Amino acid sequence: MRLYIHWPFCVSRCAYCDFNSRVASRELHALYHHALITEIENRSRCIGEERRDLGSLYLGGGTPSIMKGEEVARFLEEVFRYFRRGPGTEVTVEVNPADWCAGDFIQAREGGVNRFSMGVQSLSDDVLAFLGRRHSANQAVEAMRSALASGADVSADLLCALPAAGRLSASDSLSDVLDLGPHHISLYGLTLEKSTPLAKRVELGEVALPGEDEAADEYLALVSTLGERGYEQYEISNFSRPGYESRHNLAYWSREEYLGVGAGAHSLIAERRFSNRSSVLQYIENIKSGGSTLESYEVLNLSERESEEIMLGLRTTAGVREELVGHSVDGLEALGLIVRRLGRIRLTPSGMLVSNTIIAGLLPDVDSLRCA
Ligand code: SF4
Repeated sequence: MRLYIHWPFCVSRCAYCDFNSRVASRELHALYHHALITEIENRSRCIGEERRDLGSLYLGGGTPSIMKGEEVARFLEEVFRYFRRGPGTEVTVEVNPADWCAGDFIQAREGGVNRFSMGVQSLSDDVLAFLGRRHSANQAVEAMRSALASGADVSADLLCALPAAGRLSASDSLSDVLDLGPHHISLYGLTLEKSTPLAKRVELGEVALPGEDEAADEYLALVSTLGERGYEQYEISNFSRPGYESRHNLAYWSREEYLGVGAGAHSLIAERRFSNRSSVLQYIENIKSGGSTLESYEVLNLSERESEEIMLGLRTTAGVREELVGHSVDGLEALGLIVRRLGRIRLTPSGMLVSNTIIAGLLPDVDSLRCA
């Protein structure tokens, strides 16, 4: 089983973020912590004995590193009362570089964490300030060094498709981060989310994001740098040294079962997709009163499962079985957007740039889904 635990709190909000996270008091953190453990206990009882063995656990947010390393270790100790950790269980925690010193990484390691996902985003102080991040480039470098010195696998998140002044720095940041020797890189294009401070600045004409062509050229250049430095692309935004892929995230894309706990968390179990309410207060209240935390619940039929297999599989370099795709892909192949190999099809880096359009064109007709 894969277990995702959502920690929906941040110290401050970044200018571009629309994730399910908020700034809240320590008192609310404590109430939420208690509710989380109650949900974990309840769900562990319902899902059946065989699903209590953890292939991976991912503590994400929000900013779980608001808890110190020792608190994360104690929290995991509680979780492991209900879900069993084995020698091969991948245990990841997301860390904001502003939060932890070397001792925190070591304490988290001692508590069972073996992978840190670091929200570096950039190694330019100007870009970090523009993004509203609360750490400096130096802090990010120091945190990466401490995470690596702890002996855990380390992934760094970086942003590209930044406004003009940040564009040079994305390639500089990538080179500098790679010099530190992380095992894994996640590279995301900055996107405009409605109602964020960044979206308002763009609306007012104060900043402009790059056009599609510029962003595409930059992405392909960064992908090429990663390849030259020995990082293999295994998903649109994810690259790793061989053998250091995120097993937790790979499970999402290959439609393995996972349980998500916490406000707004999603699950896929026994071909049922369900999600919790995203409001933290409502979530705590529902847990306290013994009511349902669910906001959605859906049983997937065969056509929906196959559509998901196409949508998720084409994000990865493993691709999907060609027989699943009912449309001709000759045109896409001729354009260099997909490759066929051993009965599977996958997107090329150029194809990944327009993945949404390609995937939408390869899905079965909506009408035939309705009849299935
Ligand atoms: S730290 Fe992460 S979750 Fe929190 S506001 Fe920034 S981007 Fe969003």
